[in-house]
Amino acid sequence: MSTTKYVFVTGGVTSSLGKGIISASLAKLLQARGYSVTIQKLDPYINVDPGTLNPYEHGECYVTEDGAETDLDLGHYERFINLPTTQANNVTTGRIYQTVINKERRGDYLGKTVQVIPHITDEIKRNIKLLGKKHNYDVVITEIGGTVGDIESLPYIESVRQLKWELGSQNSLVIHLTLVPYLSASGELKTKPTQHSVKVMLENGIQPDVLVLRTEHPLNTDIRKKVALFCNVNIESVIQSIDVSTIYEVPLLMKEEKLDVTVLKKLNLPVNEEPKLEKWKQFIEKLKSPKKEITVGLVGKYIELPDSYKSIIESLVHAGSVNQCKVNVESIHSEKITEANVAQKLKNVQGVIVAPGFGLRGIEGKITAVSYVRENNIPFLGICLGMQCAVVEFARNVLGLSDADSTEMSRTTTNPVIDLMEEQKGVTEKGGTMRLGAYPCDIKKGTKVFEVYNKEHIQERHRHRYEFNNTYLEEFDKAGMKPAGLNPDTGLVEIMEMPEHRWFIGVQFHPEYKSTVVNPHPLFVNFVKEICKD
Ligand code: GLN
Repeated sequence: MSTTKYVFVTGGVTSSLGKGIISASLAKLLQARGYSVTIQKLDPYINVDPGTLNPYEHGECYVTEDGAETDLDLGHYERFINLPTTQANNVTTGRIYQTVINKERRGDYLGKTVQVIPHITDEIKRNIKLLGKKHNYDVVITEIGGTVGDIESLPYIESVRQLKWELGSQNSLVIHLTLVPYLSASGELKTKPTQHSVKVMLENGIQPDVLVLRTEHPLNTDIRKKVALFCNVNIESVIQSIDVSTIYEVPLLMKEEKLDVTVLKKLNLPVNEEPKLEKWKQFIEKLKSPKKEITVGLVGKYIELPDSYKSIIESLVHAGSVNQCKVNVESIHSEKITEANVAQKLKNVQGVIVAPGFGLRGIEGKITAVSYVRENNIPFLGICLGMQCAVVEFARNVLGLSDADSTEMSRTTTNPVIDLMEEQKGVTEKGGTMRLGAYPCDIKKGTKVFEVYNKEHIQERHRHRYEFNNTYLEEFDKAGMKPAGLNPDTGLVEIMEMPEHRWFIGVQFHPEYKSTVVNPHPLFVNFVKEICKD
């Protein structure tokens, strides 16, 4: 029999309170106490996965080793617990319905009427339990997206109610995250929204076991007592989550609040010795005592929503800590960059990252930015589309192929230096059809990236349809833009670099998906290190 225990994290009052960070922090603390743990996100929207969503809708689409396009919270999970997640860690309403409807078409329901309860809730419960069973985790933390009371999250809340009942109180619990607003006019912290939110949970048949209260100001004992009394929990189960300058401090705050101890006791698991958090603490100490300060320009077209580039921004935080350097990120809108203003636009930055992306919008601004950093010897990291822009720029301005382009942007170019991958040519469906997930890359010895990774064989994650067109490889190589990493099976160019330049690397993959607190990504670490030399 499986001994896996289940923790559910729900949210109330408003969205964006940081359920993902609380889930990841609890996971970190349990892991640091020697428990095997994973985190799962259930998203109530109807898209089968967020791969088809514009970043403006939900922020970045995070990609796992096994090639799942997932919610950006999985990025937090990996950055905190330093373990890969998989497709099973992110399930949407779309995926649940798709499975149920496919079963119905196969006749698996034997003539029954297929309904939200029990068929949809059964499928939700199957997905929650599957993760625990597969790897025999001690604890599975399941974060329910959205806010309690939303129409679309009802089947999830109902599934939690059923599971809690089926598993029993020693094997499952619910953490409910709410907001305690501060009214500055009266100088008061208000608990009523929390009381109402818990009432909504109760209406749905769930008594939360632990309440985490997000607040801008410390909660005194009276407030905690009041919440405990009105929400039927003991005072140790009222946990304060106060605003902090970095999300990476949240596990330490949760430790102070004894969230982990409360959870373990309720789940009847031993509270052994103190959690081992030395590396984590060192990371924060270095992060908070920078000796240098730099500014990196992030050139992209989704900059209005910082969540669009979440993993890149976090990777720079990790790299900043390693180098004891405060890394400011200046987001620069690629649509606003022109040849006439590029120097002005990049005047505050000491290094440039050109971001991943899709489609024509803002592309010329990205190419112009690459041109400027190439000519002015400014450190450059091009990620996916960013690398493709570097290739197009080099072809146009160094090789003299003035109409060079990616066929994503121009179908009629006579110099398609970036072209659709062969296996993509017959693909018409958009969802889950890109080249996704981890692929191997062999790095050439003696290159800059070899110095960076200090390894010959790496695996990095991908999300693209286009690739470097190898018919141009020799021409590029001779002129000074060199392939430094190739896929050993297909010869696909994974890394381009310019040895003549101070630091100019373009990668077809997404290094940002693999940077974690205890394993910061070498490309970001080295990029920041180079800029720090100034
Ligand atoms: N649009 C490009 C491609 O599909 C780059 C994708 C990306 O930046 N993730 O190849």
